[in-house]
Amino acid sequence: MRYSWVIDSHVGMVRDANEDAFFPESDDAADGPVVIAVADGMGGAAAGEVASRLAIDASTGTEADDGDVRQLLDRANRAVLEAAEAEPAYAGMGTTMTLARFGADGLLQIGHVGDSRAYLVRDGELRRLTTDDTVVEEMVRAGVLSEDEARIHPRRHLITQSLGMDGIVVQAIEERLVEGDRVLVCSDGLTSMIDDNAIGDVLSHAETPADAVWLLIDAANAAGGHDNTTVAVVDVGP
Ligand code: MN
Repeated sequence: MRYSWVIDSHVGMVRDANEDAFFPESDDAADGPVVIAVADGMGGAAAGEVASRLAIDASTGTEADDGDVRQLLDRANRAVLEAAEAEPAYAGMGTTMTLARFGADGLLQIGHVGDSRAYLVRDGELRRLTTDDTVVEEMVRAGVLSEDEARIHPRRHLITQSLGMDGIVVQAIEERLVEGDRVLVCSDGLTSMIDDNAIGDVLSHAETPADAVWLLIDAANAAGGHDNTTVAVVDVGP
């Protein structure tokens, strides 16, 4: 299977610094395995940036090409925990991570913690692949809130687990991809500013991954750009 990807990040319209980190650094096309990862750091001073960078560096690279995606995120978690224990300024730092590995055989494997997201577009239909580790997502699942209410809820940013915590449970998701699929991996700077209808509309109409990435980042910024926005779009080809 052939994969073509574009990945980029924007600081947004409000924040001074970008605490998101992503992998890989450059856009390209390749046969699988291809690893794409997005991390959204949090913590005082510059600790959020440190946490997201550490998590990406610990879980990507050649060893990420095979093996269990859960173990990759566990390794990232240990890297964040150890750095936080070693340096008082980093105490309590954490990061989300959504890591997607696209296999040569078309198998997509995702490891996920936090409120970054992965979506699949197939035949013009958008489907979210990850479940947010947030208080509002639990309320949506319990039928207490709608998706639209959750997106503007005052506690929407409260996440229930992140890398940098003991005892986390990593979500592992598998999906068999087919030619023509398009996959999005993004930080909550996108999904807190525009809804799934708008995201699906862009993804199903944009001609190229590059068009999709910049239309989505522009839309998040046009809606206020309250957070850093990181967007990766991967097209699945023959
Ligand atoms: Mn964020």
